[in-house]
Amino acid sequence: MGNSRTVFVYGAGISGQGVSQVLADRGDRVILYNDEKKELAPVFLDAFTKQGGRYVCGVDPEPYLRESDLFIISPGIPFTTETVKKARDLQMEIIGEAEEASRLYKGTWVGITGTNGKTTTTTLVGRMLETLPHPTTVAGNIGFALSKELEHMGPDSYVAAELSSFQLEGMTTFHPQIACIINITPDHFERHGNMENYIDAKAQIFARQTADDVLVLNYDNENTRRLADRAKSRVFFFSTEEPLKEGAWIEDGWFVFKVDGTLHKVCKVSDLQIFGAHNEQNVLAAILCCHFAGVTVENMAKVLKAFEGVEHRLEYVTTIKGVPYYNDSKATNTDSAIKALEAFKDGHVILLAGGHDKMTGLDDFMQACAKKTDALILLGEARKRFQEAAVKNGVRNIIMIDGSFEDAVRKAYAIAVPPEVVLLSPACSSYDMFANFPERGRVFKKIVRTLEKEAGEGKQ
Ligand code: ADP
Repeated sequence: MGNSRTVFVYGAGISGQGVSQVLADRGDRVILYNDEKKELAPVFLDAFTKQGGRYVCGVDPEPYLRESDLFIISPGIPFTTETVKKARDLQMEIIGEAEEASRLYKGTWVGITGTNGKTTTTTLVGRMLETLPHPTTVAGNIGFALSKELEHMGPDSYVAAELSSFQLEGMTTFHPQIACIINITPDHFERHGNMENYIDAKAQIFARQTADDVLVLNYDNENTRRLADRAKSRVFFFSTEEPLKEGAWIEDGWFVFKVDGTLHKVCKVSDLQIFGAHNEQNVLAAILCCHFAGVTVENMAKVLKAFEGVEHRLEYVTTIKGVPYYNDSKATNTDSAIKALEAFKDGHVILLAGGHDKMTGLDDFMQACAKKTDALILLGEARKRFQEAAVKNGVRNIIMIDGSFEDAVRKAYAIAVPPEVVLLSPACSSYDMFANFPERGRVFKKIVRTLEKEAGEGKQ
């Protein structure tokens, strides 16, 4: 099978290497190409080369493009590079790594996208799917190639797949049986250019669905509510704000859903260990998706009650001198930071924000800060622009940190008193100071633990 194909894989990162290996295993001739010179780990390269794979970097791709039948682009690379242009000029078929994965995988998809909440919702869906009498797996948008994760999953399996707009941009035939868009708010303009393109990329998750498929959308988020008009699939909404005719919502403190006229009560909001209205959205989304995947209400409730959340998402760290510390390092855009602030109903937040600036608008975020924060500590590259927006929106007590990340955390510690809480929810990516958001979160937790010891409250 596949012996006659030569595949050009563009981008030698995790996705590119993953899909190259999968295709080489299947008997395709693979050319793995990277624009810049890049050294690859010998464990990968040796095995790949033994299978006839060729790794090429830092040279003109054209001769390699000419001998290839298919062009697979890694999700990290935009469609605007010279190499993509050359492939277009040669009229090659250009698809994303995730599209190739979808062609190889024959099981049932629950595809989840959204600006925020993807990992939390996908994790929840994955746990619920595990209760089915089928093989199941969870596939993420980072860390592994989708094709590699699904390589060994058979046609009777179910996958909960977290799909980013970057991955969705490269889809051409993909259509999940169950698709979900949790929300769409401004993000990634650096890649998609504007909101319209960003929404179009997200809409790829259902663009080729049919009347046999299901699409789950957020009723409270206008950008996703409006997408229902474009869908050929059966659309079900969820709302944390109001009861709906059909779909999922909250009623008398219970998560409920209604499909085909029957109302099901799943569990109480107060049964959850995670908190915040945004997490209620994630729960409702997961409930609807999993209902259509065949998960029972009892099993949904069991999973929801046991779920402790995902690291770096409004994660409770510890309490020092009566002040709780929360790590929300994953809040890399303003909407997720707003949601974190809103989760603290009584306010009194000492917020640590800033980092690598994504250049989206800041007014909504700063208005939330004006309502919820006792102090706003600004750090990183974004701090000046954040400061201007904060002043404009009437935020009080703005503290600028020109020094290190640790200086910022120590400043929060120095000023925080009960009933305040200290929250790291940066509304920025981390690349100015850290390799990625998990590292930022881990460093934060380490500093907090050190402060705890210094305060004489740490475990012996
Ligand atoms: P993603 O994988 O889409 O980035 P995560 O579940 O990792 O989503 O959450 C990312 C950030 O967004 C975290 O700070 C989290 O607290 C916040 N968040 C989670 N769910 C939502 C939601 N439904 N709406 C807005 N923000 C959310």
